This record gives sequence, structure tokens and C-alpha cells, in this order.
Amino acid sequence: MDSSQSPTNFVALIQRGDDAATRLYNAPDSHSLSQIQIGSIVTSVLGHLEHCEYKTFDNVMAGLGGNLVCPSRWIINLFHFCESTTTDESICLQIAKNLGPLVRCMCDDRNRLFFQSKKHWRESIDKFASLILAIATKSIALDSSLKEEMVETLFQNEDLLSSIVQWSNVWRKDATLEDTRNYNIYHCGKLSAMLLVVEMPDLRERIASMPVVSKYDDPNCTESYVEGLISHMQFNNKFDQDDLRVLQHLIVDEDCVDKGVIEGMIDFGVNSTDVGPEYAAELLFPMLFKGALARGNHPSDTRVAFAIRAGLINLCLSFMVRVGGDMRSTVFSHVEAIFKSIYFVALHKKTWKAIRHKRPDIEAKLNLLDANIIHDVKCKELLDMIKAILDMNGAYCCHCNKSLGRKERYQCGGCNRMTYCSRACQRADWLNGHNQACCMEYTDDYVGKFHGRMVPFYGADERAVSKLTELEINSNMIQLKLFLDHSSTILEQAKSLNIPLCDCVVRFELRYYPPKVTTNHYSECYVSTQKEYEASRSMKNIMCVYYSYNFTGDIISTHLEEPSSMLCMQKMFPFDWLTQKK
Ligand SMILES: [Zn+2]
Ligand SMILES: [Zn+2]
Repeated sequence: MDSSQSPTNFVALIQRGDDAATRLYNAPDSHSLSQIQIGSIVTSVLGHLEHCEYKTFDNVMAGLGGNLVCPSRWIINLFHFCESTTTDESICLQIAKNLGPLVRCMCDDRNRLFFQSKKHWRESIDKFASLILAIATKSIALDSSLKEEMVETLFQNEDLLSSIVQWSNVWRKDATLEDTRNYNIYHCGKLSAMLLVVEMPDLRERIASMPVVSKYDDPNCTESYVEGLISHMQFNNKFDQDDLRVLQHLIVDEDCVDKGVIEGMIDFGVNSTDVGPEYAAELLFPMLFKGALARGNHPSDTRVAFAIRAGLINLCLSFMVRVGGDMRSTVFSHVEAIFKSIYFVALHKKTWKAIRHKRPDIEAKLNLLDANIIHDVKCKELLDMIKAILDMNGAYCCHCNKSLGRKERYQCGGCNRMTYCSRACQRADWLNGHNQACCMEYTDDYVGKFHGRMVPFYGADERAVSKLTELEINSNMIQLKLFLDHSSTILEQAKSLNIPLCDCVVRFELRYYPPKVTTNHYSECYVSTQKEYEASRSMKNIMCVYYSYNFTGDIISTHLEEPSSMLCMQKMFPFDWLTQKK
């Protein structure tokens, strides 16, 4: 630059639109301008940019008498002021406050006009992106009240937020050459989003739910930012720390998860190489379970079911093949957590159906693993967990324990909660006690008399009741099987207690893995109602009690032991079935 130029002249030249002065102004700290001088440059540059929506650049230049070649140079000036550590915060705030016309021009993806010119728009868009990034970066470093003011000011224009999200999406398959060339835009969009994500909670949700493709390009695009980020990582098989931080934050803390995100992540786990599967394993668990718990909700049956249909269980099994029984591997512990959580919702309708749908696939993979690689104790435990999940997924006649196909199921027409292989079994079960239990509200008076639900869902809304009914149907179908499968355990336990079978209460605890079976004297279970129980209980049947979870998805309870999240069902079986029936 011309070093003879005095700062005052220099400022005046920039204000008049002098190309040489404006262009040379790319290292603000070296020009030893005062804050007042910087302020006056900013004011006049912002004043020029105010016309960018309606006037042509030539028109503005004619008014100024300058020879500036391209208006993008003004944006570069502003960028340098914002980036400089010596610039006053108030100047950055002034810039943020007066960017409206510029933002509207640059973010209008349909017209792409800056000073009425497509050429100027193209020349300026990446500089504009850098400017936004500089302001966002500056904001983060400020005290909280000023930071909020700055960011709020900057993003009062909704178009800017959605533009940032869309700029970050040059990885999309239909990205134009122009988009990919503007790598800066991508970079800026990504970083801005990250900064906001980390620092500005109220903006996070807005960003995360914005479609990644401009509505002008594709009005039907519903692909979210998170989903786009996942496909970007998969497409490039590249794991940028920034991407991962954003992803982790949006999934774990913000719970920005929808079907597309779940599907994308499973796809990513299956198809990526290198460390990709590790990241997938790490994010899948919070995606499906932990986020929900952190918000005070229960795991979502819907979400888990969808993930299973998308191949979650097989993906986890293939993770095991990768890492073997290496317990130090984080993948291993993630897989363990995922399996355990599936186990807890395995009896819920959607999960149950999804597992059933995938059952042949899962069994094939299990056989393969059994036959080939798994000799490790830890791996075996995990495989047993999946087998327990498949066991819970059984469909059996509530009366004769016959394994049921999809079409051979008869339900009790009264309560719709019992499933049978035939009308004959339905009739037999009716006479065996269901006639007393069908459609009855269960109370303590009925303990030891017939089967039913023991902890009614107090104050439940319609949705919770229908969830409960779904859960009961699936629970009912495996109760007899559990009873018969554990017959020797029950007989042994009763024998060691030295009590008759009619005095026994067998407790099946399905809320824990591995499921527990314990036999007790009835007085230990029903102390408060012992007298009534004594008088009316069945002397031919053994009483079984089954505990499982009832996740309704919207009950505010972080404590899984609360009755609202627990289902407790009672069922009586003739005790000669323990020795006779198969
Ligand atoms: Zn049957
Ligand atoms: Zn019934």
C-alpha cells in the first residue's frame, strides 16, 4: 500500500469507493486506525450495502464517484473488522444489526442477486459466509448478555439460519458444481452451525429441524441437518472432529432423531469402514435410549422398533464379529447396552413385531456366529442376551403352549388379551379360570384366585391403556412357556423351601437381565391380605407372578421401579402341569 497515505485520507478513500484503498485494506491491524476511524468506515460501507437489494452496483458507484470493481470487497472489509481482535465489540454489533439487506440478498437462493447482479452474488457468497462465521465466532467470546444480543441480532432473519444449514449440505448428491466449488461456504456453514449448537440452546432446535435442501431446489425435502451430516460422513468415509462434535451434540443432548437419522446411522454402521462403525455404535445407543431417559421419558418403543427393522440387531452382531470379545473395546460395551435396552422393550407391540419380522435374519446370523468365531465368554453372554430377546418374542397358545404362526391365532373375544391356537384351547382355558378373569378389574381380593393384571394402571389415559393391552397380549403368550421351561427350577426351589406347591408363589422377573425366577411362600408376598388369601385361594394351582416394564413413552418418570412403568401380571397354572405338560 501507499505508506504515505494518512489514515484520514485512507478512510475517506474507502468511503468514496476507491478500489485500491478498499482492496488493500485486508490487514486492519497494520493500518493503526482508531476505533472512531474504523467506525466511520463501517458506517459508510453498511450504508452502501443498504442499497444492495434494489440498486445496481454501477448506480451506487456513480453516486460515490469511486472505481470499486466488485461489492464483495466491502464484505471482505467487514469480515476483517469482525475478525480482528482489536475491533470494539460495539462495532461488530453495529455490523450485525445492519446486515439485513445483505442477508436477504445472499440468502435468497432462488434469485441469487446482489446489487441486481448474479455475477456479484456468485463473487460474494463465500465472503459473506466468512463474515457470518467471523461474527458468530466473535459472539462466542463475549459476555453472555452481549453474546445473546449479537447472535439474536444476527439470526433475526430466519433465512440466514436455513441458509447456513443448506450451505452445509454441499455433500448432497444433487449438489451443483458451483456448490462444491464454494467449499468455503460449506466450511462456514458447518462451523457456524457448530458454534451455535454448542452455545445457543434455543437456536439448536431450529437448526436441527431445518431441511438441508432449499425449498426452491426441492420443496419436498425433509432430510434434516443431522441426516445430511451422517450421509456426508458415510459418503466420504471421513470423520472430521467438528462433524462428530456436532452430530454427537445434536443426537445426545438435543435428541434430534427421526426415522431418517436412525436409518442413516444404521446404514452408516453397515457400510462405512475404518473407524465408522465405532462411531455408529457409540451414537446408536443414546439415539435410541439415553436421550429419551435424559428428557425424563422412557425408551421409545416406536424408535427401537424402527431401528430393528432397519437392521439394528444384525448390525450389532456384525460389530461383535469385528471386535470379538474385547471388553475394553468401547464398541463392545455399546453393543451390550443396546442389547440390554432392546430386551427391556422386547415385549412391547412395535418392538415385538419388528423382532418377529427380522427373526429369520437374526437367527441366521446367530447360527453363523455360534458355529464360527465366538468361543469367548463375554461374546457368548451377549449372544445369550439376543437369544433371550428372541425367547421373549415367542408366540404361544396361552393354554397349550403350542408355537403359533401368524395365521393360527384366536383371541379371546371378551378382553382381546389372550391368544390361543384353537377354539378348543380357548374354551378349555375359559373353564380353567379365564371365565373369572376376563375383562375384570383386578383388585387385591382376587390374589390367588385367578389370573390377571395385578397393578392396574391408575389414572392412565387412553393411550397408556392401549399400550398396556398390547403389552399384556405379548406377555400372556410367553407366560406358560416360561413356567414350563423353568419347571425343574421351580420344583427344586419348592422342595428346598419344604412347602407344598399350592403355597408357592413363583416370581418371574423380566425387568432384569438375565430374567430371574424365584419361588417363595405366599405369605412372603401377600402379608397384608394373608387372611383373605388363606380363605379363598386355589389349592390345585400354583400362582405365578410376572413383572415387566410398561413404557408408555410419555410418562414423566425417571425411576423405572415406579408402578406406573411396571406391569405385574398374575397367572395360575395347575401344578400337575409342572410334571406332565410339555
Ligand atoms: Zn392351544
Ligand atoms: Zn378374555
